[in-house]
Amino acid sequence: MTFTALRGAGLALLLATAAQAEDPVEAYRVFVADHAEPKVTAFDLNAPGTRWEFEIAGQAKLIPVADGAVIAAVQSDADQVRFIASGVTLEDHGDHADIAISDPAAIGAPLTGARPFHVVDHGGETVIHFDRGGRADLLSNAALKDGRIEIAQFPQARAHHGFAAPFGGVILSTVASDAPVEGDAAPVRLGLRAFDRSGSPVGDLAPCGGIHGEAFSGAYLAAGCAEGVLTATPGPNGAIAYRMLPYPADFPAATTGTLLGAKAMQIFLGNHGPDGLVVVDPAGEPAMTRVALPFRRVDFALDPADPAMAYVLTEDGRLHRVDLLAAKITASAPVTGTYSMDGHWNDPRPRLAVADGIIAMSDPRAGLARLISTETLKETGRIEIGGQPYDIAIVGGAGATH
Ligand code: ZN
Ligand code: ZN
Repeated sequence: MTFTALRGAGLALLLATAAQAEDPVEAYRVFVADHAEPKVTAFDLNAPGTRWEFEIAGQAKLIPVADGAVIAAVQSDADQVRFIASGVTLEDHGDHADIAISDPAAIGAPLTGARPFHVVDHGGETVIHFDRGGRADLLSNAALKDGRIEIAQFPQARAHHGFAAPFGGVILSTVASDAPVEGDAAPVRLGLRAFDRSGSPVGDLAPCGGIHGEAFSGAYLAAGCAEGVLTATPGPNGAIAYRMLPYPADFPAATTGTLLGAKAMQIFLGNHGPDGLVVVDPAGEPAMTRVALPFRRVDFALDPADPAMAYVLTEDGRLHRVDLLAAKITASAPVTGTYSMDGHWNDPRPRLAVADGIIAMSDPRAGLARLISTETLKETGRIEIGGQPYDIAIVGGAGATH
């Protein structure tokens, strides 16, 4: 390197440092889990050439928790959960946020237990439900942000595929039937009930057949049932007010099993059967509006920057923008090849994660993460990952670094 080049580089560094001290810094970090290999790859959107890799024990679902400070890598078939500090943290300072950026790093030892599955992040705690362990582990988000794992165990009467959530001073937990089952069959899920933290019931069962797919928005928890969508909200005298929103009579025969809850407004988006979505307004009228999809859904995600918008990928390889307030598809564009929903639910298919203006979509067949503009639905970049990129998560934002 010549003297001039060195001097130039030094000057550029100096300018960058000066700019960083004054201008807000924007950083988005993407985490991708492979379908076949037990590993997680991380990279920054603005410098995707630098990679971090984490060896884990099995295929993982990646769930950002503790305000994006931590990624929970839930390995259901390997009976463990790995917590990875995302390295991008935003701290609220009232009129602005501070951003701190460091390398991502695994936290402590993996959490172990029989078939961890659903994860709830609510009320300052992250809850891992162990479907065959008959328990849920409640982890303090404050400790997680500090790089520590602090656990309180919540016992359940019968192990089942469900969830538990801290909610207005109680734990709301799914409840399974105590009727005997054949062999390895999972017990039938009956509904939702409030418990104290030691696992003793403090309320009556709210019936919700086959309850599945919890989400939070505003003052509400919502979950799908055979008969409709059940909502729960804090009621008078510490009680929980439940309400069953039945599927409207003009809906085709189908149910909701997955829900997403918006953060910045009180609204949910769920599936309704394999080729429909349902917008749920828990306190409004109509409570449920259906959006028909042209093909079966592969994955869907809400837009954290624009809570009235969601994106859904259908098996024909097209991405659609859904306006939740209008309950309509407002734009569609091809983004990949076809990914048929015939076959196993866990076959390698794309997954979506959305940040400010960007949809990050894994494309397992192409070995890529595709970056797609939320505005135009056009691809703006592709990042070679190799293998079969599967579950994907994105954390970050903009903040001051003073
Ligand atoms: Zn500050
Ligand atoms: Zn489930």
